[in-house]
Amino acid sequence: MGLIVQKYGGTSVADSEKIKNVARAIIKEKNNGNDVIVVVSAMGHTTDKLIKLAGEITSHPTEREMDMLLSTGEQVSMSLLAMALNDMGYKAISLTGLQVGIKTENCHMNARIVDIDTVRVKQHLKEGNIVIVAGFQGVCEGNEITTLGRGGSDTTAVALACAFRADRCDIYSDVEGVYTFDPRVVKTAKKLDKISYDEMLELARVGANVLHPRSVETAKLFNVPMRVRSSFKTDDLGTLIIGVKEMELIKPVTGLACDSSQIRIVICDVEDKPGNAAKLFNLLASKNLSVDMIIQSYARSSNNTNDIAFTITKADKEKFDEVSDEILNILNASNIHIDEDIVKVSAVGAGMIDRPGIAAKMFDVLAKEKINIKMISTSEIKISVLVEKQYANQAAIALCKAFELDGADVADVKGDLPVV
Ligand code: ADP
Ligand code: ASP
Ligand code: MG
Repeated sequence: MGLIVQKYGGTSVADSEKIKNVARAIIKEKNNGNDVIVVVSAMGHTTDKLIKLAGEITSHPTEREMDMLLSTGEQVSMSLLAMALNDMGYKAISLTGLQVGIKTENCHMNARIVDIDTVRVKQHLKEGNIVIVAGFQGVCEGNEITTLGRGGSDTTAVALACAFRADRCDIYSDVEGVYTFDPRVVKTAKKLDKISYDEMLELARVGANVLHPRSVETAKLFNVPMRVRSSFKTDDLGTLIIGVKEMELIKPVTGLACDSSQIRIVICDVEDKPGNAAKLFNLLASKNLSVDMIIQSYARSSNNTNDIAFTITKADKEKFDEVSDEILNILNASNIHIDEDIVKVSAVGAGMIDRPGIAAKMFDVLAKEKINIKMISTSEIKISVLVEKQYANQAAIALCKAFELDGADVADVKGDLPVV
């Protein structure tokens, strides 16, 4: 008898019929002779609705109260799922993060799991229960409720799979697996049978929100085999995420992703002398502002100044506004330019290591589409470019073609189209 951890996302439990379907899929696994721990997300767009509701009350809710509010979403779906299983004649019990003993660091809204107590869940499994756990939540010191960041139920599932040494961690979603690009945007994107932890981690970090990046990080650390599968086609094996990709690295690029959550900031006319970059980025760090891409231009000889451009998330714009005057003062810069309508388009692939010309090919494709590149950054297995938002999908479609990431099959994707 094995132990399987399953996770069902918001679309999979969006209404009572879907919850009953999920219950049937869980029963199938249980009838295979396995113990099952199930992690659920909030129903449909519940979390978005709760955030909107908080916004109607105040523009500055405390992070503690946001966690109190957002953690309720998963409690609705977990109890309904347990009821559905009970009604079908199966023993099931739903548990919150506190009841399981999912301990996180002392921080709200983006906490990391530090420990999971296995005693209570083991006892319920021994008694023949299917255990349903609320995703996305834990507790820190003083039993204060914390949440793990948007999409964090994936991480709850993988962390439980590690803690219980599960045989498998299956992430059920509204897509049939991990594709070469978001199949809602490029309908002919190809489904991948396998992808390595490293490539998946990079894709998730640069915007492929099919998985929470920390779930992949955790699976890699503990070598837990993870699958992304469709909750509407449970027989399909989906995509396996594993340590070493056994297939040959014929293609330099495995997948693409777009991230529209960033803004670009340019600090203009900064004197070209030692210490100015340190002053700027120390100030940003002291305000807890994370920076992604950074470019410093060549110093103009006429006045010995250059421009420093970087990206931060849209959510941090208000925090940046609070220090913008101080930045102008300490750097004696002429002005600050902010670009909000930008998207970062990234190509990821282990096959680009030691293979020259991949960046050149990417820039070539964009040039042929007459798409201007505003910033570039690279790592060993990734090339990212910043483009104007209106060209992001066009860039992705052209790059999918150029790097042979599309095919004849049109993805069967349920639900709403994403808002890019
Ligand atoms: P869930 O609620 O099940 O966690 P999410 O909305 O978080 O689902 O993630 C699934 C969505 O991720 C898909 O509907 C799809 O639009 C999007 N997505 C983005 N990039 C990819 C990709 N490379 N492969 C598959 N899906 C992707
Ligand atoms: N409900 C949370 C969210 O929408 C967590 C999750 O779905 O993974 O972000
Ligand atoms: Mg998700």
